[in-house]
Amino acid sequence: MDLEAYIRDVPDFPKKGIIFKDITPLLADAAALEEAVRRLGRPYEGKGVQVVTGIESRGFIFGGAVARRLRAGFVPLRKPGKLPYKTVKKEYALEYGTDAVEIHADAISPGQKVLMLDDLLATGGTMAAACELVEGLGGRIVGVAFLIELCFLKGRQKLPGYDIHTLIRVP
Ligand code: AMP
Repeated sequence: MDLEAYIRDVPDFPKKGIIFKDITPLLADAAALEEAVRRLGRPYEGKGVQVVTGIESRGFIFGGAVARRLRAGFVPLRKPGKLPYKTVKKEYALEYGTDAVEIHADAISPGQKVLMLDDLLATGGTMAAACELVEGLGGRIVGVAFLIELCFLKGRQKLPGYDIHTLIRVP
């Protein structure tokens, strides 16, 4: 199945010059969603993944589904101020300014095997910050998976040493 056929390019969203990769057609199609979740989790079957993390908000959709498939738990990484309990935060640089992600301080136990998940790898800043948070809590990252990779932005360079798995590669 060609999953890329279910991704819609939306030019100039949310601002001019960005081609937004809209995953909602893939989410709305039962067979494409099933296939995407199966392929995202496949390299990690039998690897003892205990927790899957997803990054707000599209990472939640795949994170939850892949966690279910791997019989692992799910942990959300969110924008600042959204998680109710004690959190740890990591800021990272954007083209202009900074952004940040948070995780509950007790979400990962030391030594737990963690699969990191998001919908799209662009510059890699978001995932690099997420990985730092998870490792700061003692998690052992067994893999980093994305539905889409925008290869021209070289996000992999911000994630050295990780086992990175992507399903759709935009050259
Ligand atoms: P980055 O930190 O640059 O790797 O950005 C990754 C985050 O931004 C992901 O959570 C994506 O959902 C979102 N993102 C960045 N660029 C795009 C794009 N062209 N289309 C859709 N989402 C994007």
